[in-house]
Amino acid sequence: MTEFYHVGQCPSCRQGWLILQRNLTSQDLYAHCEECEMGFITPDDLIEPLNGFLAVLDQYDYETENPTKEDISRTVWANFIVKKVPSN
Ligand SMILES: [Zn+2]
Repeated sequence: MTEFYHVGQCPSCRQGWLILQRNLTSQDLYAHCEECEMGFITPDDLIEPLNGFLAVLDQYDYETENPTKEDISRTVWANFIVKKVPSN
């Protein structure tokens, strides 16, 4: 079963969860909003003024994968509140 981890609600649209994803090109772990497609590279980017990027633009055309909890523990997101998204 695929497990997704999120770091709370998207500060941009306030509707989606910020799902942690690994960019397999840069190896960055970023938080990706499933609703508005905004991406945030670090927790600081979630604080006003928001420093997100639109994750669907061509320049961000890369493969991603779902990081494991161990992957997350080695990143800037380690001390953030990371919760498993309930599967339905
Ligand atoms: Zn959003």
